[in-house]
Amino acid sequence: TSFDQMGLHDALLRGVYGVGFENPSAIQQRAIVPIIRGSDVIAQAQSGTGKTATFTISVLQRIDLSQRHCQALILAPTRELATQIFNFMNSAFRSGVQIVVGTPGRVCDMAHRGILDLSRLAIFVLDEADEMLSRGFQNQIREIFQLFPKDSQVVLLSATMPQEVLELTDSFMEDPTRILV
Ligand code: AMP
Repeated sequence: TSFDQMGLHDALLRGVYGVGFENPSAIQQRAIVPIIRGSDVIAQAQSGTGKTATFTISVLQRIDLSQRHCQALILAPTRELATQIFNFMNSAFRSGVQIVVGTPGRVCDMAHRGILDLSRLAIFVLDEADEMLSRGFQNQIREIFQLFPKDSQVVLLSATMPQEVLELTDSFMEDPTRILV
């Protein structure tokens, strides 16, 4: 599959080629189409496989730009990784308040203070889930799950699949597509 065959919006496809990507990586070939069709997806993938662009491209395809509310939340284990994801999104594509990228602590805090409204979230991405749990974010992640609609799509990426990650997927994902790259 090439990027052209994924059914991406024209502006998004131009953005993908604009950042210099010619062909999708293995994870992009296998995960983007299921995510944009709305499936919950568990991807076991390391850094360097093109995982960031996988969920970035998919999230951008799923956003309704005519709606101003927050539609996508991406959680990352560290502020540094969250910043990298945000910068990548901005370098390739226009984004806005429809998409929030952050660490669990900060997102929880903003949600509790009423600054961030997740009540109409369509898609939730948990990047580096194993890393997130090993940093002790288990309770905050579970708290965040309570703040958005039960039928929101969930995409989880993790380099390894320890028991705690599998427990999260069992509690919060529905009939997920599993991808190992
Ligand atoms: P990641 O797995 O997200 O850490 O990405 C690793 C690197 O691969 C990043 O520098 C991306 O910009 C680059 N990359 C991701 N997808 C592609 C692609 N389809 N073609 C070329 N480079 C890519």
